Amino acid sequence: MIRKHSDYPLQPPRERGTGRAFAFALVMHALLGFFLYHGIQWQNSTPEGAEAELWTEVPDTAIPHPVAPPPPAPVAPAPRLRDEQADIALQEKKRQQQQAAREAQLAEQQRQHLSRLSRDTVGAYALSEAGSGSDAFALTTRATARGDEFVLDGRKLWITNAAEAGIFVVFATVDPAAGYKGITAFLVDRDTPGFTVGHKEDKLGIRASSTCELLFEGCPVPRAQVLGEVGKGYKIAIETLNEGRIGIGAQMLGLAEGALGHALRYTQERKQFGKAIAEFQGVQFQLARAATDVEAARLLVYNAARLRDAQQPFLTEAAMCKLFASEVAERTASLAVNLYGGYGFVKDYPVEKLYRDAKIGQIYEGTSNMQLALIARQLFGSRL
Ligand SMILES: Cc1cc2nc3c(=O)[nH]c(=O)nc-3n(C[C@H](O)[C@H](O)[C@H](O)COP(=O)(O)OP(=O)(O)OC[C@H]3O[C@@H](n4cnc5c(N)ncnc54)[C@H](O)[C@@H]3O)c2cc1C
Repeated sequence: MIRKHSDYPLQPPRERGTGRAFAFALVMHALLGFFLYHGIQWQNSTPEGAEAELWTEVPDTAIPHPVAPPPPAPVAPAPRLRDEQADIALQEKKRQQQQAAREAQLAEQQRQHLSRLSRDTVGAYALSEAGSGSDAFALTTRATARGDEFVLDGRKLWITNAAEAGIFVVFATVDPAAGYKGITAFLVDRDTPGFTVGHKEDKLGIRASSTCELLFEGCPVPRAQVLGEVGKGYKIAIETLNEGRIGIGAQMLGLAEGALGHALRYTQERKQFGKAIAEFQGVQFQLARAATDVEAARLLVYNAARLRDAQQPFLTEAAMCKLFASEVAERTASLAVNLYGGYGFVKDYPVEKLYRDAKIGQIYEGTSNMQLALIARQLFGSRL
């Protein structure tokens, strides 16, 4: 039975009351701190002897008790303070202008490229290089600023859809000494001078999609084609991969379901020892275990997806779903090959392809070890 995402509704987001109460307490805490701090400042600024004068104003007959001092007379802000305020206002104005410019640039990029991508153009995501895979931010493709453009030099490897793509998101560093903070994302059109799509890989699986190297030799990219901010490309790279894991989990889930479906059909058709091989309990148990695996993978994938949809934390769940679904895909496709017997080993039947295609799930968008590392980091936090 194939279930849909909507069969697994997410509980409505948690009652916000607790969050609001917490925020209110925080604000009150901050305000209290502010007033206490300024109260102390004010007391410290009370001139010496002022307290004594207050006491003398109280009639002798009265029970002596401290009287609250009058509020301090308003003092004109010192010129230095005015300068600081003006500075802050200026900086804020500049920040707002930069933000507005970024938003305008993004809107223009969306206008130019999203419509193409939704119509007739394939996109590609180019992060990996020969020397930087799991350690993706060790990339060396260089972006050198030159007037109103950046010039790209370097080489990318393993880029999906590169043979067909019209637009590429390319990650390069504007400053290798800055580490990941130099990484910047660029939108590069296929026909940009100095940009070539190179060798196409001859792969074990997913052969229906191209995987190529990209070469950049003095490739000029206008500043207007920086995606996001200069030096903030690492965020775009990470956010894409974080969500992408749910997509790979779903891809592997579909593959596993397909393999299970083929195996269920074939084992009911194929006869040995005078009956369908599905009638042997040994075969039934193998398929029952595979169906359980597939269901568990489905729940992990849907759970990560609905957390993402509900804008709740989803990183660990996404890593778990990719890790598990890719293992289930490989196990289920392998079982399907076994149950097809010799027919499973030849290209006339679909399961050998599924077996080869399953392998990529444990490699791209972060290997299984990298998913385990992410999950373990979440388990141990900063304790290790
Ligand atoms: C078909 C295909 C399509 C791809 N498509 C794209 C694409 O479109 N865009 C893109 O940018 N990239 C793409 N890639 C690249 C892919 O993301 C990388 O291959 C992957 O991240 C692994 O990097 P690597 O090959 O350099 O392996 P390495 O990082 O060298 O890893 C080798 C082995 O070492 C293990 N390892 C490494 N570091 C650690 C560690 N710290 N702890 C434990 N184990 C570790 C890994 O788990 C792995 O088993 C694609 C790759 C393939 C094969």
